[in-house]
Amino acid sequence: MSDCIFCKIVNGDIPAAKVFENEYVFAFLDISQVTKGHTLVIPKVHKENLFELTPDIAKNLFESVPAIAKALKKEYQPLGLNLVNNNGEAAGQTVYHFHIHLIPRYGQGDGFG
Ligand code: 5GP
Ligand code: ZN
Repeated sequence: MSDCIFCKIVNGDIPAAKVFENEYVFAFLDISQVTKGHTLVIPKVHKENLFELTPDIAKNLFESVPAIAKALKKEYQPLGLNLVNNNGEAAGQTVYHFHIHLIPRYGQGDGFG
């Protein structure tokens, strides 16, 4: 989608700190990290939210999540990690290209939750 900021990141039209990429998935650091290593995982294909995902897109996306989580664990050594997904304005979605937040956690006072 031409006016979607995440499609522009996938296409390399705007820069992002890439964490992972394969045929179906792109993962990059959030521009406004709530904790160190806060990463967004997105399908390369433009889908607005969970309600638009097909099983195939979801499968390809979620298959990459363990490897991305392990890479974050190795790089940042968090104590834990939250997976967050907001669907629709009422749920806090602000960018309308489906994405999963991977939020490394470092204990009380780490800035999230
Ligand atoms: P949402 O609120 O839709 O669940 O999450 C959108 C996320 O996208 C926010 O955490 C926000 O900081 C991030 N974001 C918005 N614009 C950009 C951008 O241009 N680059 C990157 N890397 N992250 C972005
Ligand atoms: Zn998009």
